[in-house]
Amino acid sequence: MKRLYWTQPDTLDAEVVVTALEDGRVTTDPVLFHPDEGGQPPDLGTIGEANVLGVEVVDGQIVHRLDRPLSDGRYVARVDRPRRQHTASHHTAQHIISGIAQERFGLKTTGVHIGLERCTVDFDRKIEWDTVTALEREVMEVVTLDVAVETLFDQADVRVRDELKPIEAGVIRVVKIGAWDQSACCGAHVRTTGRIGMVRLCDIESKKDGTRVFFLAGRKALDCSQQETNVLRELRKAASCSTGELLATFEKAQAQARDLTKEVARLWTQMLPGLAASAQVLGVQSSKVGVQVAEIPPQLVAKLAGLIAEATEGTGIAVSGTRIAISSRTLDAAALLKTIQNAAGGKGGGSPGAANGNLGRAVTADEILTLLKN
Ligand SMILES: [Zn+2]
Repeated sequence: MKRLYWTQPDTLDAEVVVTALEDGRVTTDPVLFHPDEGGQPPDLGTIGEANVLGVEVVDGQIVHRLDRPLSDGRYVARVDRPRRQHTASHHTAQHIISGIAQERFGLKTTGVHIGLERCTVDFDRKIEWDTVTALEREVMEVVTLDVAVETLFDQADVRVRDELKPIEAGVIRVVKIGAWDQSACCGAHVRTTGRIGMVRLCDIESKKDGTRVFFLAGRKALDCSQQETNVLRELRKAASCSTGELLATFEKAQAQARDLTKEVARLWTQMLPGLAASAQVLGVQSSKVGVQVAEIPPQLVAKLAGLIAEATEGTGIAVSGTRIAISSRTLDAAALLKTIQNAAGGKGGGSPGAANGNLGRAVTADEILTLLKN
């Protein structure tokens, strides 16, 4: 089986000999399409008039799943160029990242994912951002040196990053990127590292004992950097400061917001006794019930009900918007809430001492007093 993507990664269209299998599946000679293998998504494209929907390794053969059957013969095969550029660039970038991480920082690669949207390398140790930044710089050095990505066959004596395993019938393929990486691999790569264009290590995530690094290459890396540049520009505009001053500006705004929240809470606490004193009061079953409907923060409604109950030495009902709280020393608060909710709707409950919940609509103090009178 001649895998053209191993030795001629730039050949993305060529005439191939098709052998038809059952269910619209075919094999080709040579093989242009990289299969779904080794964590790299399959190539897509066309063979003759047929679209390639998937490529997989079945019993050592590379099998193409097509949208229509093809009979045996010669056809022109075309690999989807942008998709291959994406997978091959990211895969080659991963080789460089893993090779340098091992050689320079003693980090062993424990997992790799090359996705169409997200690419990651997992390392065996915890690392911090200064290591990531240094690693990114060294990776970009290798990209700008435009080093050849070579394929070596059956060189069992080469020192490689990972275990040497035959890929098919005794074939051992080693991918070599100058002095930076040598590893056994079955994937598709770019011909030289300069083709990657750009590599960004965008984020890290702690994994058990190790670290997951999210990276992007080529066009995706540029898209990500431009998006971040746009966000920074908008933030600078909103905060009227330079990029370097953004963090300090943000922290100052957070501190101010915290102070203001405290101040507002303090002012409300001062105002609540006045609202409790001005509640409308009604006698129910020889007990006093005070009702106050006012726009106050939802978390203070129960406190206001308690203050009214204290002031009337009976029952306090406080409402803000559709939020209601009842505090009672003499009547059954839960039963009162139910009476009001029977008329106004809503959900909630509680005990004889205290009940709270929401009403289905806004109510007035007069409406509640009329309900309680009856
Ligand atoms: Zn590879």
